[in-house]
Amino acid sequence: MDIQHTATPEAGKDYPRNWNEFLDWFATEEACRGYLEKLRWPQGFVCPSCGVAGEPYRSSRSRLMCRSCSHQSTVSAGTIFDKTRTPLRVWLAAAWYLTNQKHGVSALGLQRVLGLGGYETAWTMLHRLRRAMVRPDRERLKGVVEVDETYLAISDRDAPIAEGQRKRRKHRTQQVLVVIAVELLQPRGFGRIRLRRIDNDSAEQVVPFVQDNVAPAAEVRTDGSAAYRELKSLGYAHQRTVMLGSDVPAHVSMAGVHRVAALIKRWILGTHHGSVQPVHLDAYLDEFVFRFNRRTSASRGMLFYRLLQQAVITDPVTYDDVVRPLPKSAKAS
Ligand SMILES: [Zn+2]
Repeated sequence: MDIQHTATPEAGKDYPRNWNEFLDWFATEEACRGYLEKLRWPQGFVCPSCGVAGEPYRSSRSRLMCRSCSHQSTVSAGTIFDKTRTPLRVWLAAAWYLTNQKHGVSALGLQRVLGLGGYETAWTMLHRLRRAMVRPDRERLKGVVEVDETYLAISDRDAPIAEGQRKRRKHRTQQVLVVIAVELLQPRGFGRIRLRRIDNDSAEQVVPFVQDNVAPAAEVRTDGSAAYRELKSLGYAHQRTVMLGSDVPAHVSMAGVHRVAALIKRWILGTHHGSVQPVHLDAYLDEFVFRFNRRTSASRGMLFYRLLQQAVITDPVTYDDVVRPLPKSAKAS
């Protein structure tokens, strides 16, 4: 399993073709570390402390010591696998399962299929993997982009708590506002999407979302909402469709946004049984975007490869970060 860092990774070379090959490649912790090492340092080890490249000393099975500054590290230090007590084999199996199921997997489903001891372990692993689903340097949407808000009905059953407690809790269903951006392709079809949970539909919430996710000079199509009024002065070609008094229903004029909203609702109800805590919604939206934007990918193994490629360059996530994340709308401002 020699990982080539070509533009297009190959099945059977860069990622396993199927579950049998997966078991074959990742039979030991050492094999998993080797695979992650090649993903993290495609050109060979680079010291995370001093930046000097060169084959490290290997004092123990997992420890890598820089020949230049003697800094000791491991392949998982500084990544989403940092300080994990879960074997890498289990992590890779989770990543495989998550990417090979067309609609992903719930924490309960993952706990069952991997035979994990606790629901909390499965829940935390999925949330850490979701952090790796957003590429920090990803390109903003271009061309013609539809932007609109929609409400999602979600209930708060999903939380890392013991089974016994779960039964006693009361579930609340809430309407959570999400802003959606969809690239419209010519002559038809949808390109990539971006999503964000927002507190309200004011300009303070929706304009930063557009700026973070849509390239300037794109044509942004919105409804008549005044919240988007300043887009023109920010360099966007802004097309407002005023619905008032129009005979055209919203789902016709905003076909992309309405289609994506329907798919998200179905996904949250189907895979996650409607139970997503509002505070964690952004993480689920990240996963939805990761899947949607790779929906034409020829192989699911490719998604596994891309997820792990990002996992080894994504900063560690503490348990507290996972349980109490900051909303993106707050981070952006
Ligand atoms: Zn060093």
